[in-house]
Amino acid sequence: MSLFSMSGLVLKWMLRKPYTRRYPFEPRQPFPGSRGALAIELPACVFCGICAKRCPTQALEVDRAAKRWTIDRLRCISCDYCVEHCPKKCLELTTAHGIPVVARGKDLFEMPPAAAAATAVAAAK
Ligand code: SF4
Ligand code: SF4
Repeated sequence: MSLFSMSGLVLKWMLRKPYTRRYPFEPRQPFPGSRGALAIELPACVFCGICAKRCPTQALEVDRAAKRWTIDRLRCISCDYCVEHCPKKCLELTTAHGIPVVARGKDLFEMPPAAAAATAVAAAK
């Protein structure tokens, strides 16, 4: 290979777009339909606990009295079972990946006291 053709190759490789991504500055966009983190629309939740009962990995906890919904994200396997069985359709399996963690913990979603009282009154009617 001549020096001229080799220089051409080097120049070509220097100018071409890299095949790799500069993660974490450029995270890859998820593919449509991929199963990511579970999300809840809390105001629509009636804290019936069906999702927690159906979850095969016991990732969910529902406290009806305290209006509290909790998920252990390291247990969740994104199976979609709770989403299918939620009577209020307030659960959604998003395509977003879960945030990396260094310690085990639970994500807690709680109704503010005023909203919880309003929900209780509406449910009693
Ligand atoms: S099944 Fe739906 S409405 Fe019932 S506690 Fe779970 S998220 Fe809330
Ligand atoms: S997606 Fe599956 S594993 Fe995750 S919380 Fe729902 S039922 Fe449990």
